[in-house]
This record gives sequence, structure tokens and C-alpha cells, in this order.
Amino acid sequence: MPPLHVSPKRRYLVRFDPKRIPHLFTDVLIIGAGIAGLRAALAVDRKLQVVVATKGQLSQSNSAYAQGGIAGVFDPLDRTAYHAADTIAAGKGMCDAEVVEMVVREAPERIRELIGFGTVFDQSDGEIALTQEGGHSHRRVVHALGDATGKEVMRALIERTRHETSIDLWDNTFTIDLLTHEGECRGALVWNPHHGKTFVWAKQTILATGGAGRLYRETTNPDIATADGQAMAFRAGAEVRDMEFMQFHPTVLYIAGSSRHLISEAVRGEGGILRDSHGVRFMGDYDPALELAPRDVVSRAITRQMALTHHHCVYLDVTHLDKRLIAERFPHISKVCVEFGLDITRDLIPVRPGAHYMIGGATIDHDGRTTVPRLWAAGEVTSSGLHGANRLASNSLLEGLVFGIRAGQGASEAARGEADQFTALPLHFEPPPMVHDRDEQLNLEDLLNSLNSEMWRNVGIERSAEGLEAALAQVEFWDRYVGPREFSQPKGWELQNMLLVAQLMIRAAMARTETRGVHTRTDFPETDPQQARHICIRSN
Ligand SMILES: Cc1cc2nc3c(=O)[nH]c(=O)nc-3n(C[C@H](O)[C@H](O)[C@H](O)COP(=O)(O)OP(=O)(O)OC[C@H]3O[C@@H](n4cnc5c(N)ncnc54)[C@H](O)[C@@H]3O)c2cc1C
Repeated sequence: MPPLHVSPKRRYLVRFDPKRIPHLFTDVLIIGAGIAGLRAALAVDRKLQVVVATKGQLSQSNSAYAQGGIAGVFDPLDRTAYHAADTIAAGKGMCDAEVVEMVVREAPERIRELIGFGTVFDQSDGEIALTQEGGHSHRRVVHALGDATGKEVMRALIERTRHETSIDLWDNTFTIDLLTHEGECRGALVWNPHHGKTFVWAKQTILATGGAGRLYRETTNPDIATADGQAMAFRAGAEVRDMEFMQFHPTVLYIAGSSRHLISEAVRGEGGILRDSHGVRFMGDYDPALELAPRDVVSRAITRQMALTHHHCVYLDVTHLDKRLIAERFPHISKVCVEFGLDITRDLIPVRPGAHYMIGGATIDHDGRTTVPRLWAAGEVTSSGLHGANRLASNSLLEGLVFGIRAGQGASEAARGEADQFTALPLHFEPPPMVHDRDEQLNLEDLLNSLNSEMWRNVGIERSAEGLEAALAQVEFWDRYVGPREFSQPKGWELQNMLLVAQLMIRAAMARTETRGVHTRTDFPETDPQQARHICIRSN
């Protein structure tokens, strides 16, 4: 498909005067401290100086919230070819087979490295314990702390990174924009509540800012997932692609007043059953793989069953499973449910789908290079070609590890070959014709809630031309008066980023006039073999 062209309203979100802002020089700048960012940092040559900037606390990332685990072939009956085939089957004709083969082949080594960094994975009979999740033909998902894999992996990675004197970890440091000079990335403009703005000049920059789940009203993602990386890469001239593919997780705890906790796929993997409000097990009406069908199938089935039964949720039933197994495998989920008066060994768990994983993002090659020279990227902020039109469960932490190490090594090699040059480069910056300085006049929370509702209603699990057109008109309207403002705090910059990325997602969803993977068009319910191609979006 020919690329779409969209012009962002402005190149930089804020005005700056290089004579009045401090400058810092480093070899490699990494933006984001999730699994991809930290794995990249650990791959950089220790002789080079690395800055890792993250906008919140180090513990705040999608990675830290991961529950189910990481996929990799360890079972003697399993094969990397089976893992590749499952990934490709889920991706619905859109996976890059070479990337899939590379990632699944490296999986066991990347997981063993995590053990070397101090991660303790759950064991069974002295061996690494494996579970099975939706779309996987074998038991191949390693997990930790029962259902809190991300917490344990990130604990180990953060500790390991803290030991490295060549790596500076900056928390509470928001990256506003990437700096470009003559079309190449030269670092970033960052902001921190104590020091204000700083120019960080870097020989090589790695973007690892994660996903975009906070664009939606129902989401499993923590607050950090506001699509900053996709937006700043696009403003800097990087191509993005697959923006129409947002994966919805089928089973998110649905209790008024609770935040939307994910009920991991592993619960269905261990035998959990989905029932509607009448107690009927309904997945058989939608897919022969029942509860273990791929996520897009289960999400759509739940949405339709909720409509059929006129009920706001469906229920996950684990009451028939061994109580000890539940306690061992799902301590976190059990604890969360207890807080709301539910004993999952006796009670059904109310669930419905929520936005979960952003498949689209900055286009990268096999080594993590974006289309902008000196800018690399890894993890959920990218489109690597691994997931195709639907991500297979537990493949994304793996993607962060595989592309994290590749981007880290690539950036390291490139930076090593370059002499130090402590000079600030001239930046081309044309402020928009009208910049409003007074951001306090806007109710940002109200705008965000409205954007969340619009995206959920018209750019959610089921889409149509009519709904997408209405969403685009609405988002463009908001962007007309939010876009030209000059904010002084992350909440404003995040909203501007989300408004830009929402437009990219809607335009891509309009252009894909078929149903494929996680992208369901009610007006084009069939998959069109002619459209098994990426929709790329460029800004120039
Ligand atoms: C509830 C939940 C459960 C999941 N379970 C699994 C699972 O079991 N297995 C699996 O494979 N995947 C799972 N996933 C998906 C997986 O966790 C993510 O895809 C993966 O962790 C992404 O890693 P990342 O390093 O790319 O991004 P993240 O881990 O999200 O890290 C992004 C980093 O970028 C920083 N950042 C963002 N914007 C800025 C900015 N403007 N300036 C500075 N820093 C910024 C953030 O603060 C953060 O440090 C789950 C996701 C969720 C939400």
C-alpha cells in the first residue's frame, strides 16, 4: 500500500533558547527504562557513557506489570519452528518471517541471560516451569512470582543496571522531543521538575518508550503508556507503521472502582472457562480452540456475547481448578480479587476486554535502526515485524529483550567509532504561528477523558468508516486548539502526543478496509489477501 502522509502541527512541542538551557553530552542516550531500554543499556560497551532517562519512577513501566511470562522453547517436545509457526499464525499474514525466526531462535539465550542477571523464574521439579497460553501449541512460557513475571524481571534488570558505573539512570525525566540536525537524531530535549529543560546531546539515541494503551478508556496499561515515543519519533521524521493494530486483552477485571487489572491468559491456559451472564460457556460458538483461541478472537467473542446477553461483562470461572494450583500460580490476581470481596476459588471473576498492547510504532530494521539516522528503537514503541496483525501472548517481553540487545550493540558500535565533539548543533525550529502560553485555561483531565471515550467508542475492538470518520473529526478539532499551546508540564505534552498518535491510528484504521488480526471492520468483515501489507505513515 502506498504510504500515508500526515504533517504534524509542529516539529517541537516547546520553544527553546539554547543559550539559556543547560547542555549535557553523552555517548548513548536511551529513552525509557522498561525491559527494552535496560536490556539495551546493558549491551552498550562499558567504556562508553550511557544516560537512561525515564519519565516516572524506575519501577513504572509496562514491563513491570507483565504477568504471564516470556515465551521461549525449553520443553524437549517443543521446537523453535513450532514457536515460529504459532507466532506467524497469530500474525494473520503480516509477520516478517525472518524476524520471527530470529526472535524465537534467540529466546532461550535471552531468557538464560536474565537468569544470569539474577531473575528467579518459577521452578517445577528442579526445572524451569513452563505454562501454556492462548495461541501457543506447547507449554513454553516461563514465569516468575507466579503471575508477577515483570516485577521480578525488572527488579533484577534495575539492580544489575544500577551496578554499572558507565550507566546513569535518570528517573522523573520526561523527554519532550528528539533533537534533529540535518535529518539525523542528535539526542533529546528532556525536562525534570528540579532542573527544568536540558539538552542531552548523544552520538546515538535509542527510543524505548513503550506503548499507547492510555489512549483508551478501558486499558491494562499503567499511566506511563501515553504514546510519547511514537509521537516524538514521528515529529522527528521517523516512519511509523501498523498504527491500526492495537491489541485488546480479552480478560480485564471489570469491577467499578478497581483499576483495570489484567487477568492473565495463563488463567485460561491452566483451565479457566469463560461464561456469559447466564452461566453458559460460549467460546465454542466462536472458535474450536475455545478459551485458548488467539486474543483477537476471544476479545471479539466476548464483545459480541456481552451484546447478545445485554450485560456489561462476562465471567472467568476457575472454581473447578485445584485450590492449591490457584494459590501457587495466581497469587497476585487472587489478592486483587479478595480486595473486592471475591474469592476466586468460589466466585466467578467479572471481565471484559481492554486496550493492552500497541503493535504499531516506529519502523525498525532487524538491528533496531529506525528510518532516522542515529536513532534506534526497541520494544513496544516499534513495529519490528514480529507480531504482524496480532501479537502472540508472551512474545513482547521477548521482543524487548531481542531488539533491546541488538539496538544497544548497534548504537554502541556506531558511537565507539565517533570522536567526542562537545558542540551544540543548530536546530531548525519554527514555532507555530500562534502559540498560547496559558495552559492552565484548559481542563486537561476532561480532554483526556473525552479522548479516551472517543477512542474506545469508535477506534476500539470493532470499527467502521462512519465511526472512524467521526473520531477523526473530533480528534482533529481538539488538536486544533490543544496542538498550538505551549505546556510546561508532562500532562500537557502527553495529551499533545496522544492527540497526534490518535490521528495516526485513525488514519491507518480508515485505510485498512478489511478485517485482519486485531483490526476488525464491521463494514469490511472479510480479510482481503491484497491488503497483507504494512500501512506506513510518513511526515514528509
Ligand atoms: C498488565 C500487563 C501485562 C502484560 N503481560 C505480559 C506478559 O506476560 N508477557 C509479555 O511478553 N508481555 C506482557 N505485557 C506487555 C509487555 O509488558 C510490554 O509490551 C513490554 O513490557 C514493553 O516493554 P518496553 O520496554 O518496550 O516498554 P515499557 O516497559 O512500557 O517501558 C517504557 C519506558 O519508557 C518510559 N517513557 C515513556 N515515555 C517517556 C518519555 N516521554 N520520557 C521519558 N521516558 C518515557 C517509561 O517511563 C518506561 O520507563 C503486559 C503488559 C501489561 C500492561
